[in-house]
Amino acid sequence: MTVAKKLEPQDEASVGLPRVTLVAPVFNEQETVGPFLDQIQVLLDQLAPVARVDILFVNDGSRDGTELAIRSRMEAGRAIGLVNLSRNFGKEAALWAGLKYATGDAVIPIDVDLQDDPFIIPEMIEKWQAGAQIVNARRADRSSDTWIKRVTAQGFYRVFNAVADQPIPQDVGDFRLLDRQVVDVLCTLSERVRLNKALFGWVGFPTDEVTFERHERSAGFSTFSYWRLWNMALDGIFASTTKPLRVWTYVGSTLAFLSFVYAGFLFFRTLVFGVDVPGYASTVVLILLFGGLNLFAVGILGEYIGRILTEVRDRPLYVVRTTYLHDEPEP
Ligand code: UDP
Ligand code: MG
Repeated sequence: MTVAKKLEPQDEASVGLPRVTLVAPVFNEQETVGPFLDQIQVLLDQLAPVARVDILFVNDGSRDGTELAIRSRMEAGRAIGLVNLSRNFGKEAALWAGLKYATGDAVIPIDVDLQDDPFIIPEMIEKWQAGAQIVNARRADRSSDTWIKRVTAQGFYRVFNAVADQPIPQDVGDFRLLDRQVVDVLCTLSERVRLNKALFGWVGFPTDEVTFERHERSAGFSTFSYWRLWNMALDGIFASTTKPLRVWTYVGSTLAFLSFVYAGFLFFRTLVFGVDVPGYASTVVLILLFGGLNLFAVGILGEYIGRILTEVRDRPLYVVRTTYLHDEPEP
């Protein structure tokens, strides 16, 4: 691997400037780390008069040369930190680990594959300094996604925002600027089943946004299969609302009322016309309908109970193997 220009620690003149930590979860990203750091270097120079930027990688159990790629770029400066997790815990857990270890006055989660354009960060910082404590980065167009991903994503936002207690903005990923105060609040939310995007919205605080174009991945492959995305969507929805549980009160009571009316009708019909044997079709239809509804309701209960178990078991969300952190002097 060629070691390109290294990230230099920013000099004395930068002491006193606000510090921004970029948190980049990485999983098998040996090809993308280099190009990412090259771009960040340019950004760092550009931002030198405004803010001190450091980068914190969370290595989410990569099985390739990712750790090596990062560490080979670390020697020169203290602007790069690394937290190695003991195995792959998934992006949500890795990002949370990053938020816990990040020390900046503002923190920006960012993908390492350059799909989150680093060059809108100056604009984000501007809005932050103008008073916004969260600055969302909205994807102006999703043409780098397949149509099926666009359609499913839109479906997710629609369902989520219809049922969740706190809506999430459409087309905003994890890429956003979070003020220190916001990060501190987020760090107290230790729930195990988590969709960070939903939590970022839940905490509140003055929010602004910038837009950017999402490019193709710089190299390597996305590891998010549709099955994984589906499960993330379920986690997000079940963690953000109890409406699917409560709806059964209304479905049940409506059906009970209708059954009561129907029973009355049958009672009087039998009194007037006597016993009437046919009725196989209606009986079977009712059994199937109620059987299906019952199983569906039990399934919903199961979704919640499984997640309650996960929370109660209280295992840590991630396990740290090693850390390489730069201890910046406090301004
Ligand atoms: N990632 C991670 N752990 C995982 C999967 C992904 O830390 O288990 C990281 C990955 O290295 C990248 C970011 O999360 O920096 C986004 O992943 P990817 O590009 O695969 O997702 P997509 O852009 O397709 O949503
Ligand atoms: Mg990506």
